[in-house]
Amino acid sequence: FNVPSPTNEPIYSYAPGTKERKLLQDAIATARAQEVDIPMYIGSEEVRTGNKLPLTPPHDHKHVLGYFHKGTQEHVKAAIDAALSAKEAWENLPWEHRAAIFLKAAELISTKYRYKLNAATMLGQSKNAFQAEIDSACEIADFLRFNVQYMTEIYSQQPPVSPKGVWNRVEQRPLEGFVFALTPFNFTAIAGNLPTSVAMMGNVVVWKPSDTQIYSANVLMEIFREAGVPDGVINLVYVHGPDAGEVIFKHPDFAGIHFTGSTGVFQDIWKTIGENIHVYKTYPRIVGETGGKDFILAHPSAEAKVVSTALVRGAFEFQGQKCSAASRAYIPKSLWPTIKDLIGKDLETFKMGGTEDFSNFINAVIDEKSFDKITKYIDRAKESSEAEVVFGGDYDKSTGYFIRPTVIVAQNADYETMQEELFGPVLTIFVYEDDKWSETLKTIDQTSIYALTGAVIAQDRYAIEEATHALRHSAGNFYINDKCTGAVVGQQPFGGARGSGTNDKAGSMINLLRWVSPRTIKETF
Ligand code: GLU
Repeated sequence: FNVPSPTNEPIYSYAPGTKERKLLQDAIATARAQEVDIPMYIGSEEVRTGNKLPLTPPHDHKHVLGYFHKGTQEHVKAAIDAALSAKEAWENLPWEHRAAIFLKAAELISTKYRYKLNAATMLGQSKNAFQAEIDSACEIADFLRFNVQYMTEIYSQQPPVSPKGVWNRVEQRPLEGFVFALTPFNFTAIAGNLPTSVAMMGNVVVWKPSDTQIYSANVLMEIFREAGVPDGVINLVYVHGPDAGEVIFKHPDFAGIHFTGSTGVFQDIWKTIGENIHVYKTYPRIVGETGGKDFILAHPSAEAKVVSTALVRGAFEFQGQKCSAASRAYIPKSLWPTIKDLIGKDLETFKMGGTEDFSNFINAVIDEKSFDKITKYIDRAKESSEAEVVFGGDYDKSTGYFIRPTVIVAQNADYETMQEELFGPVLTIFVYEDDKWSETLKTIDQTSIYALTGAVIAQDRYAIEEATHALRHSAGNFYINDKCTGAVVGQQPFGGARGSGTNDKAGSMINLLRWVSPRTIKETF
């Protein structure tokens, strides 16, 4: 079988006066007017525990969008049982039927559910219309369609050589057991991709989203069910992370984890899996995309406008809450005054506020914990003799968790905001002497404990070559003359090494291959 050749989902602009803008505004109004009651989905059951917790927009935290039912360890056990019961029928279903289900899910996202899912991402996670569109309409549809294509390629790989009288073949089996998908708040697409890429390969899943993404996760689940994902194949639970972990990582049928989140949590999980390794039937697959401290490096030959646009968009889109966001930059002294001026002009045009008003480019950060963490760093920079806050620096959490895009200039390349991940709208710049280009390359590599994304901006080809080579281990996604965010599925497989993850590239065959366990069969005639 061949599946339809995937193409990237077209991006709607939601420009004033368009039909799409009106439909999205209507979906937002509908969502705001109702109070949803969100159950867990375990097997064929919608589970309502009665322990209801509110969901509120980060930019309007007094407004209740609805409630979700929080579960306990019993629900995690039930989800594992439901997954294991669904396993046999699911893995025996010919793969083209699995493909059809996920292609249908992509179709539902790009048509019937586009506005509802975007509205959920805008309200629940405080993403503006354009950022929501590229995430919860386009990227998720792309993940589904391109992964179906990669899955097809995996199942139709060339068999090994068979000498006369022998038939050698390799069977791509699903993993033995269930897989845990632990997903983040910052991309609805990632929340959708982690369970579906695993399920596509014939596996069954227990999915726990971040508490701050449950509102759109619920819409994703509605879509998956309507697309025909059978009961028990993807089970969605809302249980305190460590409680869920207690059950999952001690279960003999635990076969793997598909994770996106913080480096610290991932390292703790890895340790726990190590401690329980004797319990499992099989070595679990551990696939994770974790933190980032992503850089933009400008060479003296760079065009100032290219640099300032890359910085502003790379650092501040979705309030910097992308693992890929530009959070440190290295700018040559000769260009800094012009670049600073251009950044200032851009920032003046940025309106900040709720996502319901489409003219607001900057919205709120996800929650109070994040707000408090980020603003502490800003306050320390204001008081530090090693740093200067040159733009932004103000914040207010009275109605929503708003932080003005902030630019810090650090005196030292190892200042704390040049090194630590803040996951917010803060960009730190180190201005280097133009003749210290090669030293700057060394500094970047040596201080990159993370290695997710990075960019070099230069016109001098020798400089581009030098940076590409010197920084080959400092980023898993490396950009030349562009910002360091916005990887497109099917175009730039995404992921990094070092503290940023296992680099099993989201949206690639490499990733899907982690969810199968090949069996080699030799038949002799
Ligand atoms: N893939 C996204 C990008 O390239 C980032 C994903 C993330 O934040 O985890 O911007």
